[in-house]
Amino acid sequence: MSNLVEMLTYPRKASTQMEELFIHKYIDSIGGMKKDSFGNRIIRIGNDVDWCFTSHTDTVHHDCSKRQEVYTDAGYAYKLDGEPLGGDDTTGVWLMLNLIHDRFPGLYIFHREEEIGGRGSRYIASSTPELMDGIRKVISLDRKGYGDVLTHQSGIRCCSYEFAYEIARQLGGEYKPSQRGVFSDSANYDYFIPECTNLSIGYFNAHSSQEIQDLVFAEDLCRRMKRVNWERLPVFRDANEFDDWRSSTRGQKRTEKKKPRYTEQLGEVTWNYYPDRGWVSKEPKKKKKTKKKKKEKKTDFDMFYSFGGYNDDDDDNPYDNYWWW
Ligand SMILES: [Zn+2]
Repeated sequence: MSNLVEMLTYPRKASTQMEELFIHKYIDSIGGMKKDSFGNRIIRIGNDVDWCFTSHTDTVHHDCSKRQEVYTDAGYAYKLDGEPLGGDDTTGVWLMLNLIHDRFPGLYIFHREEEIGGRGSRYIASSTPELMDGIRKVISLDRKGYGDVLTHQSGIRCCSYEFAYEIARQLGGEYKPSQRGVFSDSANYDYFIPECTNLSIGYFNAHSSQEIQDLVFAEDLCRRMKRVNWERLPVFRDANEFDDWRSSTRGQKRTEKKKPRYTEQLGEVTWNYYPDRGWVSKEPKKKKKTKKKKKEKKTDFDMFYSFGGYNDDDDDNPYDNYWWW
């Protein structure tokens, strides 16, 4: 079993010697590991698996000339040199190595160049999609925090609520479906694979000097992942149903405002699905700000005149807009 803290000592900007060294030591040393033309590393364990775990080998670092010093305290890994730790996504790689070591079934893909545009996964999606034949679930291990099973990435739906809910239920702890995802490799497969998600793996403040990794959580998550029945997870989403947004990002003209085809309330945010725009949250931030400003003004006004009995808030008050003196 590989040592996560030791793995974290390799700062690995994409295509650096340090990344090659890391891959050579930890990934290529596994029997049966394959490499595609882009450099992604791939291994399949078990027959007829319809789920795939993914992580990425590169990190966000500037100086990759030497190994970095990693400290641990109270179950957390951290650094003091002003560069990120690289829990994103060393921990995802570590989790997959552990599952592979225990011969836990699944298709495993170690993507390259995620941090510079998701290039490794884009290569597979566009050039070798047959690798994913029979795969219906893609689970990236590449999310901050303790509790997210992402249903959306960059506002675009990537898996069904039912799928995310069931993973969250079986993992336990703080896990629950979340719409707040940004980009990870699994998003590049969501137009032909029905259920794609990204799981929290216990790092915080990624891409910054304040990045930390909860080591105890990572070990516990590894155990919990083995208890999930990945084979029996519900597959609800139709991958073909939600790929229209891609045409709008290719610069095609957006048609006039259309009524949403689907509306979903999750937490306090309402999402609408527009065929030409994808999933859009109902309340844009800008509108909120102007509303707040107006309210403040109104309050000042009310307070100023309240002594005289002025009130324009209450519709039932016969003295609305009426001066008493
Ligand atoms: Zn990442």
